[in-house]
Amino acid sequence: MPLNIDPDIFTHGHEQFRRTVRHFFETQADPFVEQWDEDHAMPRSFWLKAGEAGILGIGVSEEFGGPGGDFLDRVVMTQEMGYSISGASIGPAFQRDQMCEQLMDFGTEEQKRQWLPKMVKGECLLAFTVTEPDSGSDLASIRTTAVRNGDDYVINGAKTYISGIADADLFMVACKTDPAAGSRGISIFLVERDRPGLGIGRILKKMGCHASNNGELVFDNLRVPATNLFGPLNGGFKVLVKSLNRDRLMWSIIAHAAATRAFDLTVEFVKNRRAFGQTIFDFQNSQFKLADMKADLDVGQAYIDHCLRTYLRKGEVDMGEATVAKLWLPEMEGRVLDQCVQLHGGAGYMHEYPVSRLFTAGRLHRIFAGTAEIMRLQIGRAL
Ligand SMILES: Cc1cc2nc3c(=O)[nH]c(=O)nc-3n(C[C@H](O)[C@H](O)[C@H](O)COP(=O)(O)OP(=O)(O)OC[C@H]3O[C@@H](n4cnc5c(N)ncnc54)[C@H](O)[C@@H]3O)c2cc1C
Repeated sequence: MPLNIDPDIFTHGHEQFRRTVRHFFETQADPFVEQWDEDHAMPRSFWLKAGEAGILGIGVSEEFGGPGGDFLDRVVMTQEMGYSISGASIGPAFQRDQMCEQLMDFGTEEQKRQWLPKMVKGECLLAFTVTEPDSGSDLASIRTTAVRNGDDYVINGAKTYISGIADADLFMVACKTDPAAGSRGISIFLVERDRPGLGIGRILKKMGCHASNNGELVFDNLRVPATNLFGPLNGGFKVLVKSLNRDRLMWSIIAHAAATRAFDLTVEFVKNRRAFGQTIFDFQNSQFKLADMKADLDVGQAYIDHCLRTYLRKGEVDMGEATVAKLWLPEMEGRVLDQCVQLHGGAGYMHEYPVSRLFTAGRLHRIFAGTAEIMRLQIGRAL
């Protein structure tokens, strides 16, 4: 059951791009991902090859060295990354590429010229840093501060769980610039990795997504020039909300694509594995479980297509729809993955079987880019 692509949404050009992206993941990521999991890192050569293949920086215009492309190209990339065998390991690190769009939307001319050409080549990797030891879902309660001092800002504080921390060259850091103003007092700064005062803390051991490392950052009287302010002063929350909205839809799409891959792998597995003189597939229990999964996946795809059609009509991701998608699709993925592991038997628990890696990666999808509870909260509040 390959991804069900609606020809009324995607053009021939998008499908050509899909073939390029799929080939790239199959040849440049899937064969190496078990080693990257062991290393807890992806080599820079992967990023440089992705840059050469023209799959980084979708949406970045030629003026800044980018390949151009539209929102649906980003969707294609996201679906293919989610469906790939390597996606379960590299997902959080790979999705950082989406920050190019934030730079296009909110960067100054100088920031775009400085960073985008390097980002689209894979020479500059970003990390998005909001979460702190004492605040995650409650974005407005971050405590990292940036205080104006002459032509600089001085940053103090700490961040945690940051994806791709080991190889990031540039950090987008959410800070309080007006601590009394709550969400209206947040600003974002670009912080280069080699700035004095930036401490890279522990790399954290995780349940899954091993190739995509996560860790801690400390800012100790770190100085950045005021020109490193990203987006409006005290307007950082709007920057975050715009990117979180897109993130919600993209992680819903990844959840669906990953569940589809697990389903495909499981159908293949149960048709080959035998017990009690027949294939596992021949047991009616297996077929009932697979039928439930197929229904879940088809319904999920229909909702994603609905969100994409809204985008095409409105020119932006609808916040309410993205919130429903981010609630339902990762929970659906959880149901599907749990049954896929079960139908694999012991093999489903072994790291060498992709379904095992998809299972641990899928657990993340209900937690980050907004937890399921925060989605429920926001859907409920809007009723
Ligand atoms: C693998 C991984 C990668 C990550 N990458 C990044 C990254 O690159 N950059 C970054 O900034 N962050 C990153 N994060 C952090 C992630 O965004 C947060 O973990 C997430 O937002 C949840 O925040 P928290 O962990 O502080 O949980 P908390 O906010 O402390 O929540 C704990 C529990 O309480 C629930 N809860 C909280 N508030 C409410 C409420 N009002 N009503 C009901 N229930 C509530 C939550 O849903 C959750 O179940 C990453 C996390 C992981 C695990």
